[in-house]
Amino acid sequence: SDILDKRTLANNRELRNKYLPDLRERSRQQYLNLREEQQLELLSREIKEEEFLFGSEKLTEKEKADLEYKKKVLSLANERKSLATVQDGYTMPEDYITEKGEIDKKKKEAALFGRYIEPDSDSATFVSEQEQWEKHQIEKSLSKPFKEPSKSLTEKEYDYVLDTDEIDFVMEETLFEEAKADELHKFLDESERKKSTMKQVRESLPIFKYRQQLLDAVENFQILIIVGETGSGKTTQLPQYLYEAGYCKDGKKIGCTQPRRVAAMSVAARVADEMGTKIGHEVGYAIRFEDCTSEKTRIKYMTDGMLLREFMTEPDLAGYSCLMIDEAHERTLHTDILFALVKDIARFRPDLKLLISSATMDAQKFSEYFDDAPIFKIPGRPYPVEIYNTKAPEANYLTAAVTTILQIHASQPKGDILVFLTGQDEIEQAMENLTVACRALGSKIAELIICPIYSNLPSELQAKIFDPTPEGARKVILATNIAETSITIDGVVYVIDPGFVKQNSYNPRSGIESLQVVACSRASASQRSGRAGRVGPGKCFRLYTQHAYMNELEDNTAPEILRVNLSSVVLTLKCLGINNLIKFDFMDPPSPELLKLALEQLYALGALNDKGEMTKMGRRMAEFPMDPMLSRALLASEKYDCANEMATIVSMLSVSGSVFYRPKDKKLFADRAHANFVITGGGDHLALLNCYNQFVDSGYNMQWCFENYVQYKSMTRARDTRDQLIALMERVEIYTKEASGEENSELTSRNLNPQEISSKSEDIRKSLTAGFFFNSAKLGKSKEGYSTVKRQHTVYIHPSSCLFEVKPQWVIYYELVLTSKEYMRQITEIDPKWLVELAPHFYSKQE
Ligand code: ADP
Ligand code: MG
Repeated sequence: SDILDKRTLANNRELRNKYLPDLRERSRQQYLNLREEQQLELLSREIKEEEFLFGSEKLTEKEKADLEYKKKVLSLANERKSLATVQDGYTMPEDYITEKGEIDKKKKEAALFGRYIEPDSDSATFVSEQEQWEKHQIEKSLSKPFKEPSKSLTEKEYDYVLDTDEIDFVMEETLFEEAKADELHKFLDESERKKSTMKQVRESLPIFKYRQQLLDAVENFQILIIVGETGSGKTTQLPQYLYEAGYCKDGKKIGCTQPRRVAAMSVAARVADEMGTKIGHEVGYAIRFEDCTSEKTRIKYMTDGMLLREFMTEPDLAGYSCLMIDEAHERTLHTDILFALVKDIARFRPDLKLLISSATMDAQKFSEYFDDAPIFKIPGRPYPVEIYNTKAPEANYLTAAVTTILQIHASQPKGDILVFLTGQDEIEQAMENLTVACRALGSKIAELIICPIYSNLPSELQAKIFDPTPEGARKVILATNIAETSITIDGVVYVIDPGFVKQNSYNPRSGIESLQVVACSRASASQRSGRAGRVGPGKCFRLYTQHAYMNELEDNTAPEILRVNLSSVVLTLKCLGINNLIKFDFMDPPSPELLKLALEQLYALGALNDKGEMTKMGRRMAEFPMDPMLSRALLASEKYDCANEMATIVSMLSVSGSVFYRPKDKKLFADRAHANFVITGGGDHLALLNCYNQFVDSGYNMQWCFENYVQYKSMTRARDTRDQLIALMERVEIYTKEASGEENSELTSRNLNPQEISSKSEDIRKSLTAGFFFNSAKLGKSKEGYSTVKRQHTVYIHPSSCLFEVKPQWVIYYELVLTSKEYMRQITEIDPKWLVELAPHFYSKQE
C-alpha cells in the first residue's frame, strides 16, 4: 500500500519483508523517468534515509549488501559525473567494475571517453571537452525566461515600484523550442475562435470524441474509473452525457461530488449555462449551509461532505441513478469515506452507476479498490511547459510572486497568469501589493486585471475569473489550490508556483490540530505547472530552487484521512450504524491511534457512551454539518439559555478569519473601531457576537460595515450560515427559552445589546467551554506563552486577538495556526473550575 512508507516499515519486520520489494520496485520505476542528476539525488536520499531509519543493526545481511551496492553505484556515478563530458551513449558502472568490486581505471576511462589516455600523455582533448561542457552549462543557465522590460519601463522605475530586485530564474529543462510570440498568439486566437458558441465549446473538449464509448462503458460496467487531464471535460460533460442518455428518465438524479465548495458552485453554474437552464432548476448544487436545488433538479453537484450527509437521510441513495465521485485523486477525508460507502451500496443496488474520476494517472489503485473496475483513459495531452526555477531561495514568496507577475507582464507575450497562493489572507495581500504597484506604474504597463479565487469568495465574484480577457489587457488569477485540478481557467499561459499549500494537520500525540502552510508535493507542483499548457505551450515559474524541488518536496500528498482529526467522520459513521471501524473498508486505513483518539474525543464530548455506542446527545450532534466541538457547544447552549447567541457565534466563527480588516493607512482607526466590540471579561467570541448584533441593529447596513472596518461580504455570509443553522436547530428542537418554560417562538429575533451580552457572559462562555474544553490553555510562568492543559504544548495568543494584551490566566481557543509560532485564534477567558464541571470524563480535580 502507498502509505506504508519506510518509516512505518522500519519498525515492523514482517510488513517490511512484504512491502519493501514493492516500494523498491516503485522507486526503480520512478528512477527510469528521471534524468541522471535526479536519479543520483534520489539515490543518495534513499541511502541516507535507509541508513538513518533502519540503522545497521536492524538490517538483514541481504539488505546490508543492497545498501552497500547502492552506495557503490552512487560513488561511482558521482565520480563519473565529475569527469563527465558531453558524451553520447550511456555507460553503466558495471562496465568498469572488476570481479572484486574494484574500479578498473583503464576500463573506466575507456568506457567514459571511448579511449584510454596514458597518464603522461597529452590530455588536451580531454580538457577541451571539459571546457566545452562548462560552456554549455553556462549558456544553459543564462537562458533567461524574461526579455528586457518593455522600453517605456526603465529599470529604475521598476525597482522603485517593486522595492525588490528582479528575480533570477534558471530553466530546468527545455521541452520545446522557444515558442515565438506570434505562434503563441496563433494558439490563443485559435482557442478563442473555437469558443464562438457553447455547443462548439462543448464539442471541442477532448472528452467529446469519446462520448459514445464512455456511455457504452457505463452501460456495460457498474463501476468505471475515469482518468483524464484537467480541463478535458470530465466534470462538466460526463453528467450531461448521462443525462442526455436518459439516466434521469424515471425522475432519478445524477450526483457529482467535488472536494471544494467553490468548484461545486462554479461547475454547476457552468453546466446550467451549457444546458440553457437556471441554476437550481435542472442543474443545482448543494454545499454546507446552502442548498440550491429543487424538485426539478436532475444533475446535482455537491461537496463530498454533503453526499456523506445524504447517507444519513437516505442510506441507499435511492434518489440517484448515477454517482460520480470526482477529483478522486485529491483523497480528501470525505471522498475516502464515500469510496467505502458507495462501494457498499453498489453491491445491493445493481442499477446504480458509479464513476470515479481522477486527474492523475495513478488510477490503478482506484481500480483495485473497486474490485478491478475498468479504467477509461481520456487521451489528450496538454502542451509542453517550460519550467523555470529560481537561482536562489526566495525569502518572501509573496513578494517574489508579485515581482514575477510584473516581470512577466512587462516582458512576455499575450497570455494570462495563474498564481498559486495558500489562502484568502495571502491572496488579499497580494492583490493589495499588486494594485499599488500597478497604480504607480500607471500607463507604462498594459492593463492588468486581477481576479482572486478562494473558497469564501462570494459567487458573483467567482464568475469573474471566467470572463474573457479584453484585447490588450492581461488577466492575473490569484488562486488557492482550487485551480490545481478542480477548476480550469482557459487562456492561462504562465503559472507562478511558490510551492506552498495550506494544510490541516493533526498530531495525534499532542492531540493538536492546526492549519499550516507546508511545501506542496512534487505531484502538486507538476499539476500546477501543467495548468500553463492548456491553450498552447506555456511557462511555469517556480519560486524555489531545483535543489529544493529535489530535496524538500514529498512525492505525493498523504491522503487526508491519515493526517487529520477523525472525530467528525467517526460520528457520522456511527450515526450510519457503522460500529466496527477497524473492519471498515478504508482505501488507506487510518492508524488505530487516530481512530482511538477520535473515539475518546467523542466520548469526552458525550456523543458516545463508554461502550462506544451513540448517545442521544451524539445523535443530535450529528445533525449539524460541523466539527463535533462546535455542535457540542451549540447543544450546550440549550442548558445555559443562550442558543441564539451561540448560533451567532458559531456562524461568525466560520468567517472569523475575514471579519475585521485593517487598511495599512488607517490601522489606528480600524483598531479603535474593533476595540468597540470588545466586551470586558469576555474574549474574541463575545466580540464577534457583539459585532454581529450591531450589524443586525444597523439593518444589515453596508455603510455601517465600512465605518467599523468590518467586511460586509463576510457578515452576509455569516448571516446566511446563521439562517441555516437556526433551521437545523429547530429540527433538533433546541429551545432557547426552555429553561424559563416559555415557548420557542423567537429563536431568531432576540438581539442582545452589549450590556446584556456582558450580563450573559458567563453562560455563553460556559457553553463554549462545553464544546472546546480540549482546547484549553493556561498562562505560563513567563507570562508570555500558554501551555495546553492536557498535554503541556506551548502556544501563544495571536496578535489579532482582543486578549493579546490582557493575557488571562485560563483560556479556550477556537483554532491553532502555525506561522512563526503556534498561535491560538479566537480566544475566550474561562474559569478552570468549569473544565472539571463540564468535562468530568476528561479533566479530574487535580488537573
Ligand atoms: P475536467 O473536470 O476534466 O478538469 P472541466 O469539465 O472542469 O474539466 O472543464 C471543461 C472545460 O469547461 C474547461 O475548458 C473549462 O475552462 C470550462 N469551464 C468549466 N467551468 C467553467 C465556467 N464556470 N465558465 C467557463 N468555462 C468553464
Ligand atoms: Mg474536474
